[in-house]
Amino acid sequence: MIPVVKSLSVERAVTPSADKFLVGKPTQEEAEAAVRTLILWAGDDPSREGLAETPQRVAKAYKELYKGYGEDPHAILDRVFEEVDGYQDMVLVRDIPFYSHCEHHMVPFVGKAHIGYYPSQGVVGLSKLARVVDLYARRLQTQEAMTAQIADVIEEALKPRGIAVLIEAEHMCMSMRGVQKQGSSTMTTQYRGLFRDDPAEQVRFFTMVKSAGL
Ligand SMILES: [Zn+2]
Repeated sequence: MIPVVKSLSVERAVTPSADKFLVGKPTQEEAEAAVRTLILWAGDDPSREGLAETPQRVAKAYKELYKGYGEDPHAILDRVFEEVDGYQDMVLVRDIPFYSHCEHHMVPFVGKAHIGYYPSQGVVGLSKLARVVDLYARRLQTQEAMTAQIADVIEEALKPRGIAVLIEAEHMCMSMRGVQKQGSSTMTTQYRGLFRDDPAEQVRFFTMVKSAGL
C-alpha cells in the first residue's frame, strides 16, 4: 500500500521563519509520499528497486534546489565597502551562471545573469552579487520576477546611481514540452537610475556584457 498525501493538515502550526513564503511546511514523510504520488502519475511503479529510494533523494535534492527560501538576500549584501579610492565608474559582473525552476511547470530554466551598477555610497564584494543571483534562482521563479528582485535588493542595499540587470536563459518548459522550441533563449532586463534615464548607458552596459571575454 503506497501512502498518498491527501491534504496537508490545516491545523499545523505555521513554520516560524523570516521568510514570508514558508507556510505549513510538510514533514519529510509527507514530501516523500508526494514524490511517490508523482511517480505513479508519471506511470511508473514507485516500489520497484530503482525507484524505491527516489522519494528520499528527491526530498533531499529539493532542500538544495530550493534553498533560496531559507536565505535572506539583505544579509548577503550587508557589508558595503566605502573605500574605493574615488572609483565612480560602472562595476560589471557578467556571465553569472544560474539554475532555476519556472513556477508554472517546476521545470528548469538555465542561464546567465549580468549585473552592472554605478556606485554611490560604496561597493559590495563581487562574489556577493553572484550569491544574490543564486538565492533568487533557488526559488520557484519567473525570469521576469527574478530580474526585478535582483535589481530591487541591490538597489536597496547599495543605493547605486544606477543598476542594470540582464538575464538570458533557456526554459526547459519551452524546449521539452509545449511548443518544443529547443535553443530559443529569453532575455529580460531591468534598468534603474541613470541606466533607465540614459539610453546611452544601456548601450554601454549591453556592449560591455557582449564584448569578447578575457
Ligand atoms: Zn514553465
